[in-house]
Amino acid sequence: MPELPEVELISRSLDKLIRGRKILTGQLLRARLAPHTTPRKFASALADATVNFVGRRGKHILIDLDNEKTLIVHLRMSGRFSLLPMEEDEPKFTHARFHLDGDEKLVFDDQRHFGLMRIVATAKLHEAKELAKLAPEPFSDEFDAAYLHAALKSSKRSLKEFLIDQTKVTGLGNIYASEAMFQARLHPAMRANKVSRPRAALLFDSIRAVLQAAVGSAELLKVDPRNLEGNYFSQSGDPQWFVYDREGSACVNCKTPISRLKQGGRSTYFCRNCQKR
Ligand SMILES: [Zn+2]
Repeated sequence: MPELPEVELISRSLDKLIRGRKILTGQLLRARLAPHTTPRKFASALADATVNFVGRRGKHILIDLDNEKTLIVHLRMSGRFSLLPMEEDEPKFTHARFHLDGDEKLVFDDQRHFGLMRIVATAKLHEAKELAKLAPEPFSDEFDAAYLHAALKSSKRSLKEFLIDQTKVTGLGNIYASEAMFQARLHPAMRANKVSRPRAALLFDSIRAVLQAAVGSAELLKVDPRNLEGNYFSQSGDPQWFVYDREGSACVNCKTPISRLKQGGRSTYFCRNCQKR
């Protein structure tokens, strides 16, 4: 599943490609991609709308239109966009097609069928249930060490589960949560409310550093912007994780083999020597 840095890059790429372009028609080919509407309403909400810009909130891509509507897209496991010449064949699991001016089409395909789209009035975007409960953006001023410490204090869950809860911290998934805890030297199974103020400050810096590095390194890759695939890292060879997916490999810091722990049904990777409760 793409994490926040990848979604950020996809929304930036989309913005470059479709900002200012007109959607001639929008076709919902798989009704369940947009369960709040019908293919007919979907088409009429998008017809002849021009894209003001493409943005992001959490892992949601926001396509802001000049008809005062916003298309919210969540890629989930395998959703991806491609911009293709009108006559070109489409990916097998194409679930939505946007015919653009200039004889091109933006297609959304999704092999795993978990992607979601919804069209909302832009004025009520902040009330949309997908967005209303999200924590502050990791690079916004609202998200700071004091916010993080206060949020940690209010939770009795494990630190790992706290970090991937998008209502507490926006933008950390399984990969970056593990990496941030390693950088901050915090044990993933410790209780969130046991993280002291100085350690919360260190964790805050680690979260920003990990996400910034991910956005930065992916930006350097020569990714074809015409194929806006979710997983940029698969195209770069081996990703440079310190602990994620490195069970049994030597810790870069102390050479102890990296451990794996199951939390909430998902794997967390950590160094049992470096990361303390
Ligand atoms: Zn270590």
